[in-house]
Amino acid sequence: MNALMPLIDSAKCQGCGLCVEICTCGVLTMVDGMVTARNGGKCGWCTMCELVCPTGAISCPFEIVIEDID
Ligand code: SF4
Ligand code: SF4
Repeated sequence: MNALMPLIDSAKCQGCGLCVEICTCGVLTMVDGMVTARNGGKCGWCTMCELVCPTGAISCPFEIVIEDID
């Protein structure tokens, strides 16, 4: 089974590399000027790549919402 990974919309990616810089898990890499999420990468699900992307090319379907429970 593949690990949960960020989804990258190649049509929106401008190859700025910000997501690669922010990712501390080595999941994201540049290939021919476009970012790629490597299968088998150890994504830490931090969602920082989605936050820094200026074009909205990355989405993190695994986003976890933590709620305070009274
Ligand atoms: S969610 Fe975090 S660990 Fe996973 S690819 Fe994005 S920046 Fe890297
Ligand atoms: S931050 Fe967004 S536009 Fe920049 S390389 Fe990553 S996916 Fe592409």
